[in-house]
Amino acid sequence: MPDTQNAQRAPDATRASCILALANQKGGVGKTTTAINLAAGLADRGLSVLLIDLDPQGNASTGLGIGYDARRQGTYALLMDDVPMADLAQDTEIAGLKIIAADTELAGAELELVMTDRREFRLRDAITRAGNDFDVVLIDCPPSLGLLTLNALVASDGVIVPLQCEFFALEGISQLVRTVDRVRRAFNSDLHVAGIVLTMYDRRNNLSELVAADARSFFGEQVMETLIPRNIRISEAQSHGRSVMAYDGRSSGAVAYQALADEVIARSGLKTPKKKKARA
Ligand code: ADP
Ligand code: MG
Repeated sequence: MPDTQNAQRAPDATRASCILALANQKGGVGKTTTAINLAAGLADRGLSVLLIDLDPQGNASTGLGIGYDARRQGTYALLMDDVPMADLAQDTEIAGLKIIAADTELAGAELELVMTDRREFRLRDAITRAGNDFDVVLIDCPPSLGLLTLNALVASDGVIVPLQCEFFALEGISQLVRTVDRVRRAFNSDLHVAGIVLTMYDRRNNLSELVAADARSFFGEQVMETLIPRNIRISEAQSHGRSVMAYDGRSSGAVAYQALADEVIARSGLKTPKKKKARA
């Protein structure tokens, strides 16, 4: 049964929905930052968006203003207690964007899942049960390739891989790509790499350019055109519990994440109900 809480969905969105995981087993590469600001950018384009915080650290929840005290039930309840998605999705200050926050019990889920029935399918089953009424579901993964991330990959249509423009950026990516291949063969034939996003790009630093060139020669078209610059406004926004667009809409970070939202919409074939806002 579709949940009625999200009935405001765009009537002309022809693509039923798109589920994207933000994954990279390295920490600090921009998964959460991209999850938050891409989600906000997509909601800004008139799409109804759900962000699922699958990282026990709960940075996506905090970064969208859902503090520790406001967590209530969240992703753990979704995975382990079969609580319906509609009962767990909380509003954010951004219209069209809801979040299922990381609850405190989520830290134990990685271990508990090992002994659970259909352990790789818990998230997929939960989304299927809900009849997914969102245009886009983004899943922010923890920095590992354990069962939580596996649940995200099994539930998703595509994976977005944030790649930090730093030393050793490409290290570990082949392991991630192999994991995606394995999940596609074993559990989810639809899964593909929806895009590699270069984050914390610093044009004054040659290394950024080198990493970008390396990534493009390795992964070609899979690398998104949009570069996310290193921009202090992005991290400031997070510490204020806001998207960078809401915090400083003219910052280079805000402009970049709007562009990334447009690129993801184009690549996923999503239809937007509103005309794009004119950009300065
Ligand atoms: P992950 O989720 O992969 O662990 P985060 O998104 O939490 O990584 O990013 C790690 C840190 O880098 C955070 O403090 C975040 O605010 C900061 N950060 C991420 N992207 C940028 C950026 N483009 N410019 C400046 N700081 C950034
Ligand atoms: Mg994170």
